[in-house]
Amino acid sequence: MTGINIRQLSPVGKSAAGMLPQPQHAKNQQHRHNSQLVSHTLTTDAPSEPCSTTPKAAPASQWNDPTLDLITPGLVDSYNRTACDLRLSVTDRCNLRCEYCLPEEHTNWIHRDNVLTLPDYARLIRIALRLGVTDVRITGGEPLLRRDLEAIISTVHDAFIERTMTPRIAMTTNAIGLDKRLDGLINAGLERINISLDSLDPARYAALAKRDRLASVMRTLAAIRDSQLWPVKLNTVIIDETSLKEIPQLITFALVNGFQWRAIEYMPIGPLARTAQWRPTSADIMSTIHQHFDIEPVATRASAPAQRWKVRESSDHPGGIIGVISSMTTPFCSSCDRTRVSADGKVYSCLFSLAFTDLKSALRSGASDLEIAELWKGAMFNKPAGHKILAPLPLSATMSHIGG
Ligand code: SAM
Repeated sequence: MTGINIRQLSPVGKSAAGMLPQPQHAKNQQHRHNSQLVSHTLTTDAPSEPCSTTPKAAPASQWNDPTLDLITPGLVDSYNRTACDLRLSVTDRCNLRCEYCLPEEHTNWIHRDNVLTLPDYARLIRIALRLGVTDVRITGGEPLLRRDLEAIISTVHDAFIERTMTPRIAMTTNAIGLDKRLDGLINAGLERINISLDSLDPARYAALAKRDRLASVMRTLAAIRDSQLWPVKLNTVIIDETSLKEIPQLITFALVNGFQWRAIEYMPIGPLARTAQWRPTSADIMSTIHQHFDIEPVATRASAPAQRWKVRESSDHPGGIIGVISSMTTPFCSSCDRTRVSADGKVYSCLFSLAFTDLKSALRSGASDLEIAELWKGAMFNKPAGHKILAPLPLSATMSHIGG
């Protein structure tokens, strides 16, 4: 492999086996949470708490306790799963054309009049929190394409604070140009980040993403290690033999630089859906990992998508955490706690579902918060038992539209 040297980002220092290095927090940033009702200290890899422990009520009289207007039951489905993890898409546009995600010839874009606006998000998030949502992940398309992304995150953050809940706001991004917006996003309330990184080889990256943008991602990775966004996860879709071969370099790169790395098993959504049967599975991924690293399993909460392993320190790298998301071969549907809203305000109960419920029309036609909440509950009640029965989707369905 040529191109980006894994030592190009200087290591954050050797750590004891299995322990991720601590990030240096930004020197000049006064994180807005410090002055808010709650302060949220991130630990290296603590799984988030399950739905049932939140929202956290502040000591308050029964007259101003915001948890009193919780809408119960919340987003419960017919199999008794409760959704508390909101995937909130802010755009279906992307500046990459990853061959497995968004084809060059895609034309079925959401019309700009139908894309949710800041006031739409402000209202939706307040309804979501009343319905028991405790975690929000901003996604897309590429969220950084929204110029008002900082304002959206700030609105989501304020909604958590209004309810005296601990804000848990994360984002999934390709990180292109993120280095220039880090301070603004963190100041708005962004706390955690997953970065998609399919290759460390500029030529391979450009071939997969159809855009030569790896250098920009690397600038973000260099900048992010001194930020408060920690731990940072690097996500790699394992698409073929070349991806499998690059796993050792990707893991070593992540460990040396203090990131957590996760492999994503290919899912039959998007332009390559019909080729799923010959794509690598998590068994192939694990076999490659075992050949190169000394690992032991780490306890993971049931609804977490990734099975996690602790990699032991070696002479080549410090210890750290890695994960494998086996959505197809070991689906976590029975404990799925997600609800998804696309950039045009449609609720999807499952990434693989073509069925949706349109909240935007209700939002913009005078429906009350309770009416919208009822629509959302109805959409989630019909969540399918598992996604395998739904896949593969028609080739026109893209992750970028629903919000991956
Ligand atoms: N643009 C952002 C990014 O690149 O992370 C967020 C949206 S993207 C759709 C979210 C994630 O979905 C990315 O990690 C991407 O690699 C993954 N993804 C897209 N299509 C996929 C597929 N068919 N199978 C597995 N993962 C896929």
